[in-house]
Amino acid sequence: MSDQYAIIGNPVAHSKSPLIHMAFARQTGQDLVYGRLLAPEGAFVATANAFRAGGGRGLNVTLPFKGEAFRFATELSERARAARAVNTLKFEGDAIIADNTDGVGLVNDLVGNLRCAIANRRILLLGAGGAARGVIEPLLHQNPAQLVLANRSLEKARLLAQSFHRAFEACSYAALAGRQFDLVVNATSASLAGELPPLPPMVFARGALAYDMMYGKGETPFLAFARSEGAALLADGLGMLVEQAAESFFIWRGLRPDSAPVLKLLRQAQDA
Ligand code: NDP
Repeated sequence: MSDQYAIIGNPVAHSKSPLIHMAFARQTGQDLVYGRLLAPEGAFVATANAFRAGGGRGLNVTLPFKGEAFRFATELSERARAARAVNTLKFEGDAIIADNTDGVGLVNDLVGNLRCAIANRRILLLGAGGAARGVIEPLLHQNPAQLVLANRSLEKARLLAQSFHRAFEACSYAALAGRQFDLVVNATSASLAGELPPLPPMVFARGALAYDMMYGKGETPFLAFARSEGAALLADGLGMLVEQAAESFFIWRGLRPDSAPVLKLLRQAQDA
């Protein structure tokens, strides 16, 4: 029987992960199947355990279960520990080995695909939810000149910053007035609701990259704002999605797939 993998979430029908991982498997000649696993709310552990008992080798975890997956794990990577959230589980005997590949997915998309340097650049991260938490450590690891995190709820941003060993600034949107950044990453869920985070004008430095983690909804209000403010480069989160999947695939199979043709395939499907 082929090795079994799946994405677990609620909802999960929209997920592109099966398409991505099956493309990676074909490309690398790996004998595996990758499906979707809908877990009822409150039944993450039971659903994941049933999959495991049936011989499942690994899971990707999406909303709303990344925190539960963190508590479910018996072994946590440094990245998962820092993020306090897990998007990749690997089952080996009794061990439930957990990682978080969202941050490395973002960094690989920025540096590898978009050729955007992070080292010595001024980075502004918007949002203080799970997505923001997951990318902080990998971004800091690239040694930016500064990392500033802005959130509507200042208290939430401050608490988040306090939970990291390495220091970075947490502030309100109003406190961004008059400041400029080379890279602005939208890790809020504002785009999902067709909203724009309350950014002051002129936050995009000359040559800046505006990155929205959201994908698949055309130009988001954030990217439209960035365009009107003169950002040099605009990017959505499709590349991050493919790159986090490539890292999960590597964790499971020990092989690094070529993400470029898969990203191209998804981009063509999205733009069609
Ligand atoms: P959460 O619900 O955990 O956090 C939401 C955050 O967005 C909060 O900080 C909230 O601020 C902020 N927010 C919501 N609406 C607004 C608004 N109108 N203006 C300003 N801030 C707002 O969500 P996640 O962190 O899990 O996900 C965030 C986004 O990242 C989603 O769009 C998701 O699809 C995307 N994502 C993409 C991935 C990829 O691979 N491309 C991977 C993971 C996530 P407050 O605290 O003040 O309420």
